[in-house]
Amino acid sequence: MKCPGQDMQFWNESAIYEETCPKCGRTVEFYKDDTNRKCSGCGHRMVNPRLDFGCAAYCQFAEQCLGTLPEEFVGQQDNLLKDRVAVEVKRYLKSDFRRIGHIMRVAQQAEKIARDEGANLGVTLCAAYLLELGEIEAAGRHASPTADQIIDAGQRLAAAILGRLAAKEPIIEYLKSNVVLMKNMIADGYQDAKTLQRRIEKVEAWLAKPELLEADKDAEYAAVIEIDLADIKEPIVCCPNDPDDAKFLSEVAGTKIDEAFIGSCMTNIGHFRAAATVLGGARDIPVKLWVAPPTKMDASELMKEGHYAAFGSAGARTEMPGCSLCMGNQAQVREGATVISTSTRNFPNRLGKNTNVFLGSAELAAVASKLGKLPTKEEYLAATGVITAKADQIYKYMNFDQIEEYAEVAKTVA
Ligand code: SF4
Repeated sequence: MKCPGQDMQFWNESAIYEETCPKCGRTVEFYKDDTNRKCSGCGHRMVNPRLDFGCAAYCQFAEQCLGTLPEEFVGQQDNLLKDRVAVEVKRYLKSDFRRIGHIMRVAQQAEKIARDEGANLGVTLCAAYLLELGEIEAAGRHASPTADQIIDAGQRLAAAILGRLAAKEPIIEYLKSNVVLMKNMIADGYQDAKTLQRRIEKVEAWLAKPELLEADKDAEYAAVIEIDLADIKEPIVCCPNDPDDAKFLSEVAGTKIDEAFIGSCMTNIGHFRAAATVLGGARDIPVKLWVAPPTKMDASELMKEGHYAAFGSAGARTEMPGCSLCMGNQAQVREGATVISTSTRNFPNRLGKNTNVFLGSAELAAVASKLGKLPTKEEYLAATGVITAKADQIYKYMNFDQIEEYAEVAKTVA
């Protein structure tokens, strides 16, 4: 019996389509798994622009199913893996743009050598990425790491990253935490309890059989926009008063700031830890700073961890958790003020009357609060180096199922 994923009787009409020969303009018919076809008009052999191997792209039995795998397909599998490893590497390095830039240059060099030597591109690039990470990891643990220590650190990290690529673990981890949080909300009297209960049941049903949504293989897109985050070397801000007017920080550096708002549903606990770390006990900052964590749980944890003390020293006005200034109906900034805000929109008058609002990150808002202006790229990097050094602790999410007081309360809710 043939695998349904590769059996034509299970294909839909989009699996057979026509393309135009780039040489003579004739129509050439393709099946989705044809790697190339010869034009009957001019004899030009053209590559299938919509090549799609369906389930074989990720199935471990693809070779047994299809026989010898076409070269183009093997290349496609390699690309998939190397791109996913690159994303994981950037996630590991967080905002350490200097190292991201370095590692990407190493990868470009490795790619060139692999192509020249005819080596397996996917394997070479993954090895280059992961060895570099091993060096970084080993340098963090040993003053002058030996080759063995680098390889050891690299292997551990590689195993963790490659293991994660095949898994739904981050989503499962988040949802398990979320179930405990929702049960605590019911216990605390949040409304509507029935809605929360229905949501818990849906999440638990998904956790019992976790399957992720995927785009249809034949989905059509109005546009595909690829952004290599390694090309972004400085913060981006949205300028007054249009969320679409995005500019690099260096284009607006030096703009005087009157007030800053760190809050809204776009922030999480890590952003507040980062902002407090940047403030670092500074007193009498030249900007009026507003701080409003999105939830009571975030605020309570931030207090326990001592970050409210840093906000207090800076003279920040800490608001009740929630939408706060983002909504603009609880408090507002001064009329005509120029503001850096972490909220979601900067439409005219939303944060206050006749205001000019830049949208940016919590880290940038904290740096700007200290300086009284939007910093230069160099000032920003110098001020946030302290975050990079402690990124693991700063950007750690609250896993409610692993916090005893929340886990215990959750047990009391059915
Ligand atoms: S008002 Fe702002 S913080 Fe509140 S939900 Fe809307 S976007 Fe999020």
